[in-house]
Amino acid sequence: MSSLRLIVFGRQGAGKGTQAVRLADHYGIPHISTGDMLRAAAASGSDFGRQVKEIMDSGSLVSDQVMEGVVAERLAQPDAAAGFLLDGYPRTPGQAEYLQTLLAPDGVQAAINLEVPEDVVVDRITGRRVCSSCGTTYALGRDESAASGLCANCGGEVLQRPDDTEDSVRKRLALYAESTEPLLSWFRERDLLVDVDGVGDPDDIAAALVARIDERRSGAPGAGS
Ligand code: AMP
Repeated sequence: MSSLRLIVFGRQGAGKGTQAVRLADHYGIPHISTGDMLRAAAASGSDFGRQVKEIMDSGSLVSDQVMEGVVAERLAQPDAAAGFLLDGYPRTPGQAEYLQTLLAPDGVQAAINLEVPEDVVVDRITGRRVCSSCGTTYALGRDESAASGLCANCGGEVLQRPDDTEDSVRKRLALYAESTEPLLSWFRERDLLVDVDGVGDPDDIAAALVARIDERRSGAPGAGS
């Protein structure tokens, strides 16, 4: 079968990271996160890394032009020849245009939009508790350690992260919506957007994602919806 070129979108707390790893495993393609790549560059301390770190720390986006170089180089690696799952790119309509040109004539096969209503992700994130010693994550209402404040793993103190409050989460979600909506429209207009319900059991969601992607690859009727 031809190579599989996917993009994944999802607001914070939608389970995008979890599903991205599962999909990449299932199809045997690399999960390429531009955020992870830029953080690795920043940690390397190179000149490029230092410039990138400054931009990331200021909360801004790296320029489209710089990202073009980063993405073109990564997608040219041998492991991406059979396909890839891009996470964090494109971030702007200009990046989307560039990606389709880079991958011409075929472009990406699907941009997945993992949909979880805002109130659900706000509940998930504000209910999240993290061990300050070992980093294990717990959920209020599910894990005893979240309620007791005592880590089941190491006995450390289990706390809420300062930016996991409702106010802060809603602000981040508003920013995501503002910057991502035009991109979702960009892919929807080209019949490339695949909306998938991200609420429920992670195994069921992964199965639904695979079914929708396979449907598209086989060109099944209605696959474009
Ligand atoms: P992320 O982990 O995807 O949230 O990315 C972390 C940071 O890396 C972002 O806040 C941006 O500064 C930068 N970044 C990641 N991907 C891109 C992109 N496609 N375009 C511009 N900047 C990006």
